[in-house]
Amino acid sequence: MTSPLHDVVDAVYVVAILVFILGLRAMSSPTTARQGIVTAGIAMLIAVVVTFLSPGLSNFAWIALGVAIGGLAGFGWARVVKMTAMPQMVAVFNGMGGGAAAAIAGVELLGSLRGATADLSVAGAVIGSISISGSVIAFLKLQGWMPSKAIVLPARQVVNFAVLVVAVGFGVGAVGWLRPEYLAPFFGLLVLYGVLLTLPIGGADMPVVISLFNALTGIAVGLDGFALVSGPLGDAGYAMVIAGVLVGAAGSLLTVLMARAMNRSVGNVFFGAFGATEDAGAAVTGSLKPIDATDAATLMAYANEVVIAPGYGMAVAQAQQKVKELSDLLAAKGVTVKFAIHPVAGRMPGHMNVLLAEAGISYDKLFDRDEINAELPSVDVVLVIGANDVVNPAARRKGSPLEGMPILDVDRAKTVIVIKRGQGKGFAGIENELFYGDNCRMLYGDAQAAVGQLVTALKQS
Ligand code: NDP
Repeated sequence: MTSPLHDVVDAVYVVAILVFILGLRAMSSPTTARQGIVTAGIAMLIAVVVTFLSPGLSNFAWIALGVAIGGLAGFGWARVVKMTAMPQMVAVFNGMGGGAAAAIAGVELLGSLRGATADLSVAGAVIGSISISGSVIAFLKLQGWMPSKAIVLPARQVVNFAVLVVAVGFGVGAVGWLRPEYLAPFFGLLVLYGVLLTLPIGGADMPVVISLFNALTGIAVGLDGFALVSGPLGDAGYAMVIAGVLVGAAGSLLTVLMARAMNRSVGNVFFGAFGATEDAGAAVTGSLKPIDATDAATLMAYANEVVIAPGYGMAVAQAQQKVKELSDLLAAKGVTVKFAIHPVAGRMPGHMNVLLAEAGISYDKLFDRDEINAELPSVDVVLVIGANDVVNPAARRKGSPLEGMPILDVDRAKTVIVIKRGQGKGFAGIENELFYGDNCRMLYGDAQAAVGQLVTALKQS
């Protein structure tokens, strides 16, 4: 079924795909990431617009209405969302992609339960349905509308496995025996499985969860694309296959990297129920010892080396510009300043790199965990700004919800100054014995205000 219009549409899809790949490539570096997002957005726009030209497409009004509602909602939300609330927005958008893929599979299956395309639709439905309900639970946890702690139900492994097997059984049965009435329990049980799978995952592991559901959504879209290829809109199917494969591949890599950052396997994150227990071993002794900005500034001004460890609190306070000012002032006094960057600090992958780059802090001052940990014992002062879980020594203890997560070993430095507002816990919701150590002083306040006080004190010294 080729026609000149088909050929034009195909050619434009190839252009869109190439632009997608260029966008993805640009996203791999913080300096070009913003441009990469815009490029990928343009590719998506090209793909959507050219789809309207596809021969055989009908229901234009309904499609345009859907595009308008979705486009306006996404645009409006993305404009107002705070950077720190980005993961929950990403979780919802992922989930929508999974839901859309499941819906397409559902429509395909209702149309025909025969042939290879039906098998592909079943596979797309399985992955897409789990992705949408799992993403909704991830959203609720990240948004704070349900506890971020792991919620472990009795006999969960057995129950979860049984739900999945029965769900897939309904899907296979629907196609094998041509029984459309099996589709409702098939989809219902899959949605339930996504919920059951995500409930026992603790807050600290959410980065892995979000990126896995992102990857799953891509795979579901790709499978749906295969199912659509033999239909009247075959070309659009190819575009979906390629977009889905790109998202699936990039998301899978990110999942592995985030799991590695937590020192866990992906299976461990999903089936290990980390964070389910209270931290029984947490024996916090000693007291919190406050320090004022003048004394903290003096300690830093007389240090040979100061390492700054930023976290979520720096992001939420938007303190990065003040931090840049502080590091310039220290450098002017002959102090070596380095930044210790934990891969899951903040609320999205690369969060700290993006913020510090935005403030104009050069990359050669940023050090990853392994590089900086080796030298921390000889560092005079570490300034922790709104970080908690990523500097929590509880991660070294068996039975802790953070067990095994590699941390920034800031507790091993000579002196640690921690900026935070009060006694708030980290995202994993557990105590941090770093704050009670003999070498630790607490500088209480909002990160932007507290770093501002340090800047003022340094200017006056
Ligand atoms: P945490 O969320 O563990 O801790 C942040 C700390 O900042 C809190 O203890 C809080 O204490 C303090 N804080 C909050 N607001 C301010 C403010 N305005 N000024 C000063 N301090 C403030 O942060 P980390 O960066 O250490 O760890 C990130 C956590 O988030 C990890 O558990 C990670 O797994 C998880 N996560 C990461 C994602 C990612 O992709 N990077 C995605 C989803 C989750 P107080 O209230 O006392 O001020």
